Amino acid sequence: MNVESTGTLFVVGTPIGNLDDLSSRARSVLGAVDLIACEDTRRTGRLLSSIGVDRPLIPYHDHNEDEQTEVLLARLAGGESVALVSDAGLPTISDPGLKLVRAAPARGVPVATVPGPSAALAALSIAGLATDRFVFEGFLPRRAGPRDARLESLAVETRTMIFYEAVHRVAATLAVFAARFGADRPAAIARELTKLHEQLATGTLATLTDRLGSGIPLKGEFVILVAGRERDDAASDAEVERIFSILARELPAKTAVAATAEITGHSRNAVYRLTRT
Ligand code: SAM
Repeated sequence: MNVESTGTLFVVGTPIGNLDDLSSRARSVLGAVDLIACEDTRRTGRLLSSIGVDRPLIPYHDHNEDEQTEVLLARLAGGESVALVSDAGLPTISDPGLKLVRAAPARGVPVATVPGPSAALAALSIAGLATDRFVFEGFLPRRAGPRDARLESLAVETRTMIFYEAVHRVAATLAVFAARFGADRPAAIARELTKLHEQLATGTLATLTDRLGSGIPLKGEFVILVAGRERDDAASDAEVERIFSILARELPAKTAVAATAEITGHSRNAVYRLTRT
């Protein structure tokens, strides 16, 4: 496939539900590479047999990323071409692959994208929330401490926030969002995208919570999108800096940060970041 001495690493997007979303270029690349690195060989094997492709598979997942990165780099350096896929969507997006993608250029291995669907952008494109600025948050940390810290840093986020969530945590996560962002914050749930029971539910965090389990079945795969805070609600960065600088003349830095946070409605972390204290 590759006439150069070093093979190319192709990062290939695969469907998030509907197999027809596999692009014809993805089919060609998967059929032509020397090797396909995938999260789950059985799952990718099924995808490949559905398109009549039979190439050697090598497992590449969260638990063997370090060793397999070296194995794959050695094979790429030896001239073999490799396609990297994950179970669904784009590799490296809340999926394995980043170590390999990062390491490849340093070894002179070209990295090429064969883009395909990703649940985050698919959900955003139909949610009806602002799309001019958004932030991908993926899965929240599971442990309470890091999760709370993450949410605290998002308290003043003005961009649309996109989260992935496992079905058994959706209800608890919506409750935490309502407490943190306010029950009337606009939000959307995109469920089972591109599949038979695809569903888009929009409303506020409160109305979506009410519909969970009835109108919104707790089944399948979920993307949760939350509108950013209204810009007018949050003091501007310049205003935060101005208030802090006045308070800091009279108060110790820590107290000035706390008071600025209280006055402006920003989190202490946000004030720290803005004023670099
Ligand atoms: N790499 C994938 C991508 O590009 O979207 C994401 C993989 S991540 C391990 C799996 C999460 O993506 C699911 O828990 C869910 O939040 C989201 N997801 C994947 N497929 C989905 C679908 N068809 N509908 C809604 N969410 C989906």
